[in-house]
Amino acid sequence: MRTIDTDVLVIGGGATGVGVLRDLALRGIRAALVEKGDLTHGTTGRYHGLLHSGGRYVVKDKQSASECAVENEILRRIMPHCLEDTGGFFVVTPADDEAYVPLFLKGCQETGVSVHEIAVREALRREPLLNPRISRAFEVRDGSADSFLATHSNAEDAVRHGAQVLTYHVVTGLERTGDRVTGAVCEDMRSGETVHIHTSYIVNAAGAWAGKIAELAGVKVTVVPGKGTMVAMNHRVLNTVVNRCKPPADGDIIVPIHTVAVIGTTDVHVPDPDVFGIEAWEVERMLSEGEQLVPGISKARVLRAWAGVRPLYKDQDVADDRDIPRTYKLLDHEARDGVKGMISMVGGKWTTYRMMAQEATDAVAAKLGIQAECRTHLEPLPIPAGAERKAGLYWLGKPLAAIEADSSYGHLICECELVTRERVVDAITSGKAANIDDIRRDTRLGMGPCQGGFCTYRAAALWHELKPATPPANDPPHGHAGNSVALLRHFLQERWKGLTVIAWGDQLRQARLDEIIYLDTLGLDLLPAPAPAEQNGAEMVTAHPAIATEYHAA
Ligand SMILES: Cc1cc2nc3c(=O)[nH]c(=O)nc-3n(C[C@H](O)[C@H](O)[C@H](O)COP(=O)(O)OP(=O)(O)OC[C@H]3O[C@@H](n4cnc5c(N)ncnc54)[C@H](O)[C@@H]3O)c2cc1C
Repeated sequence: MRTIDTDVLVIGGGATGVGVLRDLALRGIRAALVEKGDLTHGTTGRYHGLLHSGGRYVVKDKQSASECAVENEILRRIMPHCLEDTGGFFVVTPADDEAYVPLFLKGCQETGVSVHEIAVREALRREPLLNPRISRAFEVRDGSADSFLATHSNAEDAVRHGAQVLTYHVVTGLERTGDRVTGAVCEDMRSGETVHIHTSYIVNAAGAWAGKIAELAGVKVTVVPGKGTMVAMNHRVLNTVVNRCKPPADGDIIVPIHTVAVIGTTDVHVPDPDVFGIEAWEVERMLSEGEQLVPGISKARVLRAWAGVRPLYKDQDVADDRDIPRTYKLLDHEARDGVKGMISMVGGKWTTYRMMAQEATDAVAAKLGIQAECRTHLEPLPIPAGAERKAGLYWLGKPLAAIEADSSYGHLICECELVTRERVVDAITSGKAANIDDIRRDTRLGMGPCQGGFCTYRAAALWHELKPATPPANDPPHGHAGNSVALLRHFLQERWKGLTVIAWGDQLRQARLDEIIYLDTLGLDLLPAPAPAEQNGAEMVTAHPAIATEYHAA
């Protein structure tokens, strides 16, 4: 059993949690964060990638719209390396009602969302694949964002300022002394060890799981999990974020992000954030709605589908789930429920994570009697070690330019996403990655067209070279490859989850080629199954129920 003492414990390693951790650390408050998976394991790693201008919410959810408009400008300043300034259009397609336009424009004016109309001809000049039958086009300050990089940058800066980050630590209980929460009990999922964390204050930033954490303290918080499915197209069919100019609905946005274009999303309430599947109708809906924006898009190659769960906070007085606002809510459990020592920060958007973190940290600092002011809107985030991105906003050719600058073509481990050997080695040796899926979140390895077909065995080989498992006493002298094989299997399985619902056409051909590489050429299925100790041991986490339950259909 291990014991950790801290002043503030943050639960949840998504955008909100790391945002709070950085804010606490910059104010000189001793803080630790626990996350049951890797950072961005939750919704932050499974979202649409849109840096909102606010335009989407100007009619129905004005507060969210204003919050997004304010934060959009701040994030452009503090994390340019994580954002691409694609710009955004709201367009009226033949399927949309022009009567929405005056409401949209009035909403933009009321909420401070910057907008101006451009000629259809100009919109089509900039985006030649856009539906030529659109009747109006409005320009906004949308962008696209890399939430993996942003989260890592926040975490790195927090650690630099003295904070602790404990990934693969699942909170299993909260400790209460009378009416005060005084600590948490965690399980270290890699070693199985119990960890007691004593703390003066807890920030519940567990997103769609926040209700489950609150329950551990005997408090009721209703978070309605709203699942959204997205599909990534193999081609970046647009360079601008394009939205339909109409009330938000399924499949009405296409976001160009890195080398792909993402169509999203559905919104389906699910019983539990860990229990959901991706349905065929959701993929079909994305493709058919995408046709309204880019005719012919449904014939392009679909790379993968994935889903995330919105942390929608339901106030007691909202009768209909459809009316739940997309804004965030800070719950002070002392004032609300008579339970001291804990707040919950629920709801919101990725775009508003910093504002949410500021409000949560202001509340904690006030409780602890600390005067220090927020500086996260002023101080730029660091670029994590190993990332090839240089200062300034991201642009599409940036990774290629970096590779060309130092002629590192021969060192590519993942050709699709231009991930070099140096970056994979760094991800492995830094000790932050517990498996190849964590390396993916750090570097984008395996996220391109082959979905891990060519890079996974190279990454597994590097892992084996750099972190050979201790061979059992009777093993042959060439070493023990059990862990690396298990990691390779785990990663392929993770990639496969997103392919099953889109297995047709060229991507099916790709999947078949990958199958031939792994089963016929490498004989992966003939290798001995890893011993149970390797499944649960120091480097493997896949069998743990807290992680393994996700993506199980209801
Ligand atoms: C489909 C979809 C599309 C979206 N698109 C956009 C978009 O384009 N732009 C935008 O701005 N916003 C978007 N959002 C909203 C945005 O993604 C979320 O609001 C945001 O990522 C939530 O971050 P979070 O940190 O609050 O939650 P999360 O990222 O879910 O983090 C919570 C963390 O808590 C951890 N956790 C849970 N239980 C425990 C436990 N017991 N112990 C330890 N850790 C635990 C989880 O593993 C998780 O990592 C989208 C959301 C969805 C669902």
